[in-house]
Amino acid sequence: MDKVMKKFFTELVEAPSPSGFEQPAQEVYRKFIARYADEVNTDVHGNVIAYKKGKGDLRLMIVGHADEIGLMISYIDDNGFIHFTPIGGVDIALLPGSRVNIYHEGELVRGVIGRKAIHLLKPEERKDAPKLESLWIDIGAADRKEAEKRVGIGDPITFSPGLEYLQGDIITSKATDNKAGVYVVAAVMKELSKENIDCNLYSVAAVQEEVGLRGARTSAFGIDPHVGIALDVTHATDFPGMDKNTLGDIRLGKGPVISVGCNINPMVFKLLKKAGDTAKVKYQIEAAPRATGTDANALQVNRAGVAAGLISIPNRYMHTQNEVIHLEDLASAAKMLAEFARMISVDTNFIPGV
Ligand SMILES: [Zn+2]
Repeated sequence: MDKVMKKFFTELVEAPSPSGFEQPAQEVYRKFIARYADEVNTDVHGNVIAYKKGKGDLRLMIVGHADEIGLMISYIDDNGFIHFTPIGGVDIALLPGSRVNIYHEGELVRGVIGRKAIHLLKPEERKDAPKLESLWIDIGAADRKEAEKRVGIGDPITFSPGLEYLQGDIITSKATDNKAGVYVVAAVMKELSKENIDCNLYSVAAVQEEVGLRGARTSAFGIDPHVGIALDVTHATDFPGMDKNTLGDIRLGKGPVISVGCNINPMVFKLLKKAGDTAKVKYQIEAAPRATGTDANALQVNRAGVAAGLISIPNRYMHTQNEVIHLEDLASAAKMLAEFARMISVDTNFIPGV
């Protein structure tokens, strides 16, 4: 991944975008992709859809969700401390001691999630995981009146940590879930921008995946694709405590992960592997015997059915303030998916058994 693309990914992860408040990240995506697409539109739901016209009639939709998990202000008490509720799947046990960013009418307010110090916890309190109602955010305000000058009920909150390099291209940041997917669909559009391909390509940065696959659903209805590929993250199993017998063997830096199972069209699965081989990138396979918890699920059951696929980036510590991924896996996913887009046309048969 070159410097320009690393900068684009850094801007994506650092732009705040809790579900329902995605537009700062969408703005980064719009700006980047405008020069590579024939058209860029934002729909009423907030999805950003970049389009490249093809020679043929097939419509291929590739989608990464732009939203990240976060918190929201629910109550400000008389002493100016802020109480909050999660947006998406937040692990409450990881919150105490975190720094957070609150966004109030476009202004950034820094805060700290407070908890009683360990010295002061009663023995039984030490044993229990912290509960949402025992935590608060401290913005340094003297009382409610002072706090309300800077923040308000409903303000979105993100974790604070931005992108840092651990070793080589292994990075840590908040929100790699799923700016990784947004990065890949943008990189595919860039890679194909000077080529004449058969399929019509729609690269979508979708909203509200973390709260129920909602943006992929509305954007897929509008685009009405024949083939739809979701880009997301999946759990790496290469760190202590992960059970490969049940979770499989998924490693950072060993390439993007192609899912197989009922949520995935068999021809899409076959062609994604072929595309990976042609593009000479490493890839891994993940068993997905149920409907996945990703946008691939919304894609597959759109209208009368879509030939769906899922490519995932291996991710350590998903939904924490400091997720870890390998940037090379992103670059490989983009190469593989660009090759897939070159391969397919209206003549490709995606109907199973026929
Ligand atoms: Zn997620």
